[in-house]
Amino acid sequence: MSTKRPQSSARLNPTQHISRDKPTLPPAFTDSLREFLSPEEIPSFIEALNGEPSCSVRLNPYKGWRPPLGAVPVAWCNEGFSLPERPVFTLDPAFHGGAYYVQEAGSMFVGYLARQALAASGAEHPCVLDLCAAPGGKSTHLSSLLGTEGTLVANEVIRGRVCVLADNIRKWGLANAIVTSSDPSAFGAMGGIFDIMVVDAPCSGEGMFRKESAALEQWSPDNVRICVERGRRIIADAWDALAEGGILIYSTCTYNRHENEETVEWIAENFDTEAIDVPLPEHSGITVTEASAGGVVHRCYRFMPQRTAGEGLFAVMLRKAGGGVVASGAGRKRSSVTPCTKADTALMRSYLKDGERFDIFSFKDNLYACPSVSRHILEMAASHLQVVYSPLLMGQTIRGELKPAHSLALTPWLERDRFNVSRLDLSQALDYLRRTGTDPSPYADGISLVYYEDIPLGFAKKIDRRVNNLYPKELRIVNL
Ligand code: SAM
Repeated sequence: MSTKRPQSSARLNPTQHISRDKPTLPPAFTDSLREFLSPEEIPSFIEALNGEPSCSVRLNPYKGWRPPLGAVPVAWCNEGFSLPERPVFTLDPAFHGGAYYVQEAGSMFVGYLARQALAASGAEHPCVLDLCAAPGGKSTHLSSLLGTEGTLVANEVIRGRVCVLADNIRKWGLANAIVTSSDPSAFGAMGGIFDIMVVDAPCSGEGMFRKESAALEQWSPDNVRICVERGRRIIADAWDALAEGGILIYSTCTYNRHENEETVEWIAENFDTEAIDVPLPEHSGITVTEASAGGVVHRCYRFMPQRTAGEGLFAVMLRKAGGGVVASGAGRKRSSVTPCTKADTALMRSYLKDGERFDIFSFKDNLYACPSVSRHILEMAASHLQVVYSPLLMGQTIRGELKPAHSLALTPWLERDRFNVSRLDLSQALDYLRRTGTDPSPYADGISLVYYEDIPLGFAKKIDRRVNNLYPKELRIVNL
């Protein structure tokens, strides 16, 4: 994978220390601190901003990878671990196999809220929208939470950012997520089909000051105002996509009250909402604040570095009033996806664990396996939205045999016995991921599934002593 793409990859050892200068905070920002901090807490907040940025990972619960050595569990996420130092993730093959995702510990709290929202929604096959999804931190987390039972629509309106989102969803491999690139208003026009809507809004990024110099450079009071207006417009445009009784999770990675509590108050003033109480993990350091409008008090959650491990985050969860109706896209009409032949259906299902739970269809000569519970959402997405990636691209059949797509290697639902096995050590695996290796000895004959430890990385095809590396060119590691 090109190292220019964010979230491209990682190795948990050796470690690499990133040195950086202490940030100089904009005076208008330091002047604003008393709007959300007590005078006594301001010095420790500034000291924390001058400290080292944090690093953490969230494991893929379906790929069985181990927590790294020295990792400390994140209190609000079972799969989350804070690392003592930042490794060179690009040099860890397990990262390329979707064994874990590099994510801020605070950001994992959105998954904590989503877990409770899923329980509260009561939907049998929940349908979740992640409206501002790239590069995919929250989406991969939501995908883990939905497992085989629900469907995620992960949307990123900015075309230049949707590709990395699709890469990360494919790498995560759970085949329950559709990636789209549509304006929030296109979702509003679909009607209330989502049980849960996550809006992780584009924001002024104050919570990233310690980590990203660009966040500091781009910050200004004017930009805060622009972010406030944009965040509210996104919510207003997409509000109708949320079912009555559905749950909105709104989050930012900034500290100011305008983009946070005041925006929650604006939501409660303009839409009919109900508060939801969330039990918090003990001793987590999470700061609870309130946003109230029209007699409804919404509890909001702040992650600030002087109190919680990780960078800054703000999050709130609230219910859209009315009905308590479970939506899940139920009762929507089926449409145009082309079913394929019985022979292809049987063949594709034979490559999947519990293959009967997938509908098989073809599109532009490719065969796809879509979980039956997600099919109506995929059909609705295909008719209303710009679909960029849909689960699960299996490949093509040539003379009755499957030529597998890369995404098949990365799904934990693959029936692995269907392929020969090539096991690579670290240096061979890196050669494979760089597409530079020429030694055929570790490779099995024919099409094989290529593993690093127990994590499949992709496919290779060996005929005689010649190996055709089937790892996608556009994903290869470059310059490392
Ligand atoms: N949820 C992501 C994650 O966890 O990896 C991070 C999302 S980031 C905070 C906000 C996203 O909103 C960006 O990817 C940005 O491109 C997108 N965005 C920017 N303008 C937008 C708009 N007008 N409507 C919807 N999304 C927008």
